[in-house]
Formats: sequence, C-alpha cells, structure tokens
Amino acid sequence: MRAAVFAEVGRVAVEERPAPAREEPTDVVLDIEACGICGTDLQILGVPPGHPATVGVVLGHEFVGVVAEAAEDVGSPRPGDRVVVAPNVSCGRCPWCRRGLSNHCESFATYGITRDGGLAPRVRVRASACHPIAAHVPAHLAALAEPLSTVVHGAQVAGVFPGETVCVIGAGPVGLMFTALLTLGGASVVVVEPAPRRAGLAAELGAVRVVDPVREEPRSIL
Ligand SMILES: [Zn+2]
Ligand SMILES: [Zn+2]
Repeated sequence: MRAAVFAEVGRVAVEERPAPAREEPTDVVLDIEACGICGTDLQILGVPPGHPATVGVVLGHEFVGVVAEAAEDVGSPRPGDRVVVAPNVSCGRCPWCRRGLSNHCESFATYGITRDGGLAPRVRVRASACHPIAAHVPAHLAALAEPLSTVVHGAQVAGVFPGETVCVIGAGPVGLMFTALLTLGGASVVVVEPAPRRAGLAAELGAVRVVDPVREEPRSIL
C-alpha cells in the first residue's frame, strides 16, 4: 500500500509499505475512509521539528475507518463497524496511568506520530482506541472527531457559563470548533482573526464579533 511517511526531518514522502496485519489479540485493522492533517503534522515537518515524531512513521492521527479485521475479544468492534480512533495510547498500568494522568504514561504513544497512523489505506490500532460512529456522518466530518474531542475537553476545563462572553484567539479549525461549541453552549464568542476567509467562517459559526487585530485593538473591544 502507499502511505504518507515522515521520511526525514523536513520531508514527507509517499512510500510503498506492507499492509498492516493484527499482531496482538487486542489489535484491529481498519480500512481508512478519511484522515485529517493537523497543525501538529505541519510542526512535525518543520526544520527543526516543532513537535517530536518518529522518523519513518506513517503520519495522520485524525482518522475514521471501517473494521477489516477484528480483535479476538468479542466486545470489541466487529468487521464492518465504522469507527473513529483516539490516537493517544497509554498503558493503563504505570503510576501515572493509575493516577488518571494517562497523558503522562511512561509508555505513551500516538498513532500517526510515534506509531503508524491514518495517511494510508490501512492501519493497525488497538480495539480499545476505537469508538463507533454513525453511518450517516460524512467521512470528512468524522475525521474531525479527534480535534473536536480536544476542543470539548478544553471547553470543559475553561468552564464557560451560558451568558458569559469569551474570546477565541485565532479561527483555524480548532478555533472555529471552539466558536461553534461555545456558541451552542450559550456563550457570546468574540473571535480575533486577521484572515478574511477564517473571519467569515467564525461569523457563520456564531461569533457575535470578529476582530481584525491588524485594524483594531482587541483589548479595546473586549
Ligand atoms: Zn492533532
Ligand atoms: Zn501508563
């Protein structure tokens, strides 16, 4: 199969790779439907890299696919099930994991960064990383489940209440998802964004005011 690989510092290459097969009883193999490109991917490919990654890995950590080969545990997704993947893998056994801080896991790994990811026709992942998704969700939207999950977590940490005014700085994909989510949650969202296309999308998604920081001083408005 052809896969987009982190070939060396500063370079992505489409390379021929053997299709992955299950190795552990808990593995599943997915046929990829769609995979996003994250700002982190761009940082990985910076010179020097702005984010660590393993040279040679298949990139892509925002993906949706259909189970081609299922794990042995009957409770896991079955062949034909459509799933999105939580790409961060932790062991569940080390002291950090036991404290609930799985993001500090001693053997932390991420599909698409330190293990092969979704910019390929097929990928091997743990069954426990798979989350079922409805058949009617278009693949290009389902691939946004991973960045959306970080936005939902961020919104929970921010603890914005309905009726409050909140400022979102930057209307890239994540900023736009914050704008939509916080607006739906009842907040008034002011967005700071200089690029006209992104500013327009922020307004479409519910921003009550979009500030161009080149022309206006955001602090005077907030
Ligand atoms: Zn990402
Ligand atoms: Zn751990």
